[in-house]
Amino acid sequence: MPLLDPQCNRATSCDFTQDGKFCEMLDKAGVPRDAKWRTLILYMRGLADYSYLSEMQKSQVQALLVDVLKQQDFSEERFSEVLMRDREILVAPYEQRLNAALQETVQLAEEFKRLMQRRKGDVKHLEARSVEAVTSGQDSAEIVSLLQATFREVINLMEQDMETLDQLSKTDALTGLNNRRAFDEVLERGIADWKDNNAPLALMMLDIDFFKDFNDEFGHRIGDQALTTVACLIRQSIAVFGSEGLEVHPCRYGGEEFAVILRGSSALIAEELASDIRKRMERYNFVIRDSNGDILRKGINITISSGIAEADPSWKGAYQENLIDAADKAMYYAKGAGRNRVAKCVPGVKSNTFVIVSGQ
Ligand code: GH3
Ligand code: MG
Ligand code: MG
Repeated sequence: MPLLDPQCNRATSCDFTQDGKFCEMLDKAGVPRDAKWRTLILYMRGLADYSYLSEMQKSQVQALLVDVLKQQDFSEERFSEVLMRDREILVAPYEQRLNAALQETVQLAEEFKRLMQRRKGDVKHLEARSVEAVTSGQDSAEIVSLLQATFREVINLMEQDMETLDQLSKTDALTGLNNRRAFDEVLERGIADWKDNNAPLALMMLDIDFFKDFNDEFGHRIGDQALTTVACLIRQSIAVFGSEGLEVHPCRYGGEEFAVILRGSSALIAEELASDIRKRMERYNFVIRDSNGDILRKGINITISSGIAEADPSWKGAYQENLIDAADKAMYYAKGAGRNRVAKCVPGVKSNTFVIVSGQ
C-alpha cells in the first residue's frame, strides 16, 4: 500500500488515515491536494510529539505552521522557504554547539602549543642545571637534592599546565562562563549532594528575547559582543547575591541561552537573582559602534526570559533531565507570557504548573 496518495482522492481512500480525517482537516485548512505540501504540513504538525526537540523548537515549528496556513501561499518558492526555515529551527542548536566546540578546541590547541613552547624552554633549562650540578664537583647527596629540586620545579609547572588546560576545557570561549561540559558536571554533583544530603538545588534557564532579529539587524559580530555583555551582567548580578553556603554557577548553555545552577539555595534566592538579572538587562542600554569605535546606534535594549525550577523528590529518577526540563518549560512559559519575564515551576501531583514571578 502506498504511504500516501498524491491526489489524496477520497473517492478511493485517503492514506493519511484510515477514515480520511486528516484529509478533511487539510481540506478545511485550504491546503491544496498536493502530496508535497500535505506531507510537509503533517510532518510539521507531528514534530510536537518528539521529545528530543526543545519546547522552543516545537513552538517555533508550530508558529511556522500557523503562518503557512494563514498566508495560504502554496507556491514552489514558499515551499522552499518553509523547508529552509524548518531546517534552520531543527539544526540551529546543533550548529551552534558545534561552532562553540570548535572555538573551544582551537583555543585549547593554541594554549597547548603555547604551554609546550614554554615547557621546551624549561626542559632545556633543566638539562643545563642538571649538567651543572653533576659537573660542579659537589658531593653526591648535594647533587641529588639539587636535581630533585630542579625536577620538582618543572613537575609543579606541568601540574599548573594541566590545571590551566582543564579550566580552559570547561570555559566558554566567547563569554568566559562555564561551558556546557562544566554545566553537566556541576549539575551532576549538585544532584548527588541533593540526593545524599538533602542540599537544596535550583536551576535557572535564561534565553535572550528575539535575538535572531538583533543578529539580523546588527550582524553576528555585534551579536557576539551582546552575548559577552549579557554574560557580564549575569556575573554582576550574581556578585550581589553571594551568601554563606550558597554556590552559584553561571553557564553558557548554548547559543543565546544561559543557565545558572544554585547549590545550597532556596528557590526564593533563585527567584530574586533571576528577577535582578531581568531588571539589569531591561535597564541596560546597548551601544553599537563601528570598527573605529564610533557610535552607530545607542539606547538599544535586549531582554531575557527565564525559568526556574527546584529539584523535586517526587520525580523518582532521571533528576538531571527532569530539572532541566522543568526549568526549560518555565522559561518557555515566560516567553509565552510576553517575554522579559521570570517564571517558576510549581511541582504538582499530576503535572507541573508555572507562575510568573517577575515582569508584568
Ligand atoms: P525568542 O525570543 O523566541 O528566544 O527568539 P530568538 O530570536 O531569540 O530565538 P531563535 O531561536 O529564533 O534565534 C536564536 C538566535 O540566536 C539565532 C542566532 O542568530 C542567535 N545566536 C545563537 N548563538 C549565537 C552566537 O553564538 N552568536 C551570535 N551572534 N548569535 C547567536
Ligand atoms: Mg534560544
Ligand atoms: Mg532567544
